[in-house]
Amino acid sequence: MADLTPIPLPVLVNRMFRELAAKKSAFHLPRFKFAKAAAGRDMSTSIFGRRAATPFGPAAGPHTQLAQNIVLSWLAGGRVIELKTVQVLDHLEIGRPCIDMETVGFNIEWSQELSLEQSLTEYVKAAMLIEMAKAEGLAPGLEDTVIDMSVGYDLAGIRTDKVRAFIAGMKDAGAVIDRLRRQIPDAYARFRDLAYPTCISDSVTVSTFHGCPPGEIEAIAAHLMAEEGLDVVVKLNPTLLGKADLNALLHDRLGYTDLVVPDATFDKDAKWQDVRAIVSRLGDLADRIGRGFGVKFSNTLLVHNHKPFFPAGTGEMYLSGPPLHVLAIELVGRFRAEFGDRFPISFSAGIDVGNFADTVALGLKPVSVCTDLLKGAGYGKGADYVADLADRMAEVEATDLDTYALKAFGLAGAALDDLEMPAGRKAALSAAIETGEDLRAAAGSDFGPWVSAARLRNTLHYAARVRDDRRYSRPEVDHPPRRTGVPLALLDCETCGKCVNVCPNDAIFRYPLPQQPVVAATLRPGADVAVGEAQPVTRAQQIGIFADACNRCGNCDVTCPETGGPFARKANLFGSPASLDGAPDRDGIAIEKTATGLRLHVRDEGRRLTINDDGARLACKGDGFDLSIDPAAPETACGVAGRPLDVGRLILIARIARAVTAPTIVTYANAAFD
Ligand code: SF4
Ligand code: SF4
Repeated sequence: MADLTPIPLPVLVNRMFRELAAKKSAFHLPRFKFAKAAAGRDMSTSIFGRRAATPFGPAAGPHTQLAQNIVLSWLAGGRVIELKTVQVLDHLEIGRPCIDMETVGFNIEWSQELSLEQSLTEYVKAAMLIEMAKAEGLAPGLEDTVIDMSVGYDLAGIRTDKVRAFIAGMKDAGAVIDRLRRQIPDAYARFRDLAYPTCISDSVTVSTFHGCPPGEIEAIAAHLMAEEGLDVVVKLNPTLLGKADLNALLHDRLGYTDLVVPDATFDKDAKWQDVRAIVSRLGDLADRIGRGFGVKFSNTLLVHNHKPFFPAGTGEMYLSGPPLHVLAIELVGRFRAEFGDRFPISFSAGIDVGNFADTVALGLKPVSVCTDLLKGAGYGKGADYVADLADRMAEVEATDLDTYALKAFGLAGAALDDLEMPAGRKAALSAAIETGEDLRAAAGSDFGPWVSAARLRNTLHYAARVRDDRRYSRPEVDHPPRRTGVPLALLDCETCGKCVNVCPNDAIFRYPLPQQPVVAATLRPGADVAVGEAQPVTRAQQIGIFADACNRCGNCDVTCPETGGPFARKANLFGSPASLDGAPDRDGIAIEKTATGLRLHVRDEGRRLTINDDGARLACKGDGFDLSIDPAAPETACGVAGRPLDVGRLILIARIARAVTAPTIVTYANAAFD
């Protein structure tokens, strides 16, 4: 079974809006980190004629798999949401861990881990939550959002009924929306009648396997445009650079001599001449049938696995992060040398807050992010991207992104040299630059070609700069997170919160646990309870994992200074007894509210048991035992125990359950309560 269990819409709605009211945050993102519009700066871009309020967005990947991830991306400023790739094989076994962000960024991820049907529902839930957020005024002036599908990986799969049904459902989600809107809790009935757009998406990015034949790529894109009526972007591989040029950059210039691209990858991947021909033909087809067509740089780079992080036997992994930025920008330069500004280019490769605004200045759209959001402040960085773009626009007095492209690198004057226009006209526009006139108004019908010329100039300028920028080189990047070597335990740790920020699924949460010591008490058959020395609880805040949303990607483990992995060592909370049953290799608790208190369904050290907590006593039942325990007096535990029992552990489990459902905090556990 998949590790992920989608969180029902009512729970998400309760969680999001209760948290906003109680904590001024949503899914752990503080409200002050929500992206904000900047007065006088229009950061919007057009994606095949659809307006997106910013060119920023989460790349197809771990941030766009579950509804809460997508909403977090949106609150952080993402207005072009690239959904995680779906495919006909929708019951995948992914190796775990699958994300290694120790330095540059490696993964062995693939497509959606949910079924196609679940993915459709998940994406519709996300779109509805975004509409609710807009209705609540959470991002005034930044409402316009574009959601882009991603499908893979071959034509036969894309033509199957189930993939076609997914696409049809995304184009017209009316039935799913009507089913879901009835589930919105009474407390938020105001959202039931919102005019949710029924078209979630009618554009798609094509993702193909490394080594996909060029003819197959073309056939998929043509099918999606002509048969499905979608605007299409084709994602291209960095191996397009060719072995010699790629290695010259990756090894010689950037110093990543440990990263080796298998020769077979260069042999199998599409070559430049293939892509040139495909793009020309697909562009012509798009023009003929009135669809949009573009390309994306870039796919990840397939390299030999030279690290012990991924499961044994993992021979290859996918590179992302800083070095990929240099490679992908190089490709943008080559592509534009060939095609000029004819085709829109979507970009995702090693984007961070330090290069986002520069990359936008090339006219790339969207500019999407994955690796950087898996590090440090995670989603909390998003607003900085948007704010930095607004600041850069302000610096050059640009009120929109086209004018920003003209002015960002000071190349508007040089770009005039690339245009065929009378000398007097050029002189007038040069003067307009000098005097700070509104360039759009001054250029009139020449504005579009001028912006295109500036984008090409900016591309050459930026590619040259990036090639020589040491910040992308191995010595600058090769700094693993700090490790203390202290083993993580169920309770207490540095409580640094790093894991909370980097989890793409919002699966990690803090909870306050009263600092009473943990009771040590053991009951052996035929003996009295033996009470030992209680262990102190040293931290006021503890860390918990919402297991339904945790796919054991491993990213929190890489970030955590202590060893063992938060997802494996901290208390795992399941959304229901069914999801607890569905993860038999994982200890944890599913909590139900009863008329008198809480009922806990528990797996502890692989054994199932239940605890009924009426607020005074714990009724604990399991394999060979049936006990009544007064948590305040463990020595009085009574009942049947056919094997040695850790009474202190049962009391601690009940304490944790009370803590994570306390009315003073908001978690997925108590968001499920009415
Ligand atoms: S589990 Fe690790 S990363 Fe998370 S708060 Fe504790 S020490 Fe920090
Ligand atoms: S809790 Fe850790 S392992 Fe689980 S999804 Fe989040 S980052 Fe990945």
